[in-house]
Amino acid sequence: MSDKPSRNEEEYFAKRSAELLRQQRDSIMKTAAEVERRAHYMKCPKCGYDLITGEWHGVQIDQCTHCHGLWFDAGQAESLLADPHPNMFARVFRAVLRGVSGAKASDV
Ligand SMILES: [Zn+2]
Repeated sequence: MSDKPSRNEEEYFAKRSAELLRQQRDSIMKTAAEVERRAHYMKCPKCGYDLITGEWHGVQIDQCTHCHGLWFDAGQAESLLADPHPNMFARVFRAVLRGVSGAKASDV
């Protein structure tokens, strides 16, 4: 009887090593993606400075502390567009959207 590992054993350990390496790589990639995401959380997408949350004319917005850019969630944009009695902010938003998209006034 030989001490040399059989071909089946070698194959088994090679497959197991490859699987463990794949799992470690996946875990590292997930961690790196999470760290990247957290680094951008509440940061201005334009200049990278911090965003602060506030309310303006009943709409919750995030404002950049540096460039003063305004950001709000997609759901907020939809509610501004759907509002049958738009406040001043909603009217400004609709006007800006018309300018950006080139849509006709009746479309927005
Ligand atoms: Zn900014």
